[in-house]
Amino acid sequence: MKIARFGEDRIGVIREDRIHDITDLAPGTAGSWPPVGMIQFIAVFDTLKPDIEKAVASGFGKPLSDIALECPVPWPNKVIAFPANYHEHISEMGDNLISKFKASGQGFFLKSNSSLSGPNDPIVLPLLPDREIHHESELAIIIGKGGRDIPAGNALDHIFGYSCLIDAVVRGREERVMRKSFDTFCPLGPYIVTRDEIADPTDIELELRVNGDLRQKANTKDLIVCIVEMIAMASSIMTLYPGDVIASGTPAGVGPMTAGDRVDISIENVGAMSLAVVAGTRAAHPVWNKKD
Ligand code: MN
Repeated sequence: MKIARFGEDRIGVIREDRIHDITDLAPGTAGSWPPVGMIQFIAVFDTLKPDIEKAVASGFGKPLSDIALECPVPWPNKVIAFPANYHEHISEMGDNLISKFKASGQGFFLKSNSSLSGPNDPIVLPLLPDREIHHESELAIIIGKGGRDIPAGNALDHIFGYSCLIDAVVRGREERVMRKSFDTFCPLGPYIVTRDEIADPTDIELELRVNGDLRQKANTKDLIVCIVEMIAMASSIMTLYPGDVIASGTPAGVGPMTAGDRVDISIENVGAMSLAVVAGTRAAHPVWNKKD
């Protein structure tokens, strides 16, 4: 099932080229603040599923072309992100510290939840003319059933679904969380594909293009820390909750984005987003000026 957020916080199921509004079946109230309706929905999805199927089968829906999709999970409890999680990306980062820096050794970090944006939102670049701002194309894992100390062997049962994610970052030596947490630095979407639609999550092709040029191309079979191990590792530290987002790490081919670019991310059987990159007007803080 393809689960989307649209029309100012409504929840829909996409079937072929139509979207079926199922907000009234969900526990939350559309438009309430904070926008946690999708989290509440994910938490009870299994019990709602028969009614959703019925509603979708008996309804007409609206043409998908008439609506704008929104960030599917705008207010998760956390966004967990794995660094340097494909062998090739580690070698392009130019050092020989593979064993030290690969994700299995280094663990993960958190990215600000407020950096999340949707498939129709532009990536707004901060005003840092001396810095490169890079795209990282990543498969997002959306947690369904939460938990603590989830063994890798059970981890697939805790996945609600998958989505496309871009982990944008200002390159530099400042704290990683700060460099990756500007507003709009975490486009997510265009919807969530529930896990039953992905036959083998260890064999998913992903690619990213900038202005049509292929920059990143990889397959999840080349992940260093695999999907189930990411869930085991994260839940050994912190309780996972429904709707938590895990950015699974980038493959090789990261590179700069500049204003006017168009960034296209596409993940096999998961979806595609085409995002505009625009110049922001926010003045930079002196924290970015440190030279050492
Ligand atoms: Mn990343």
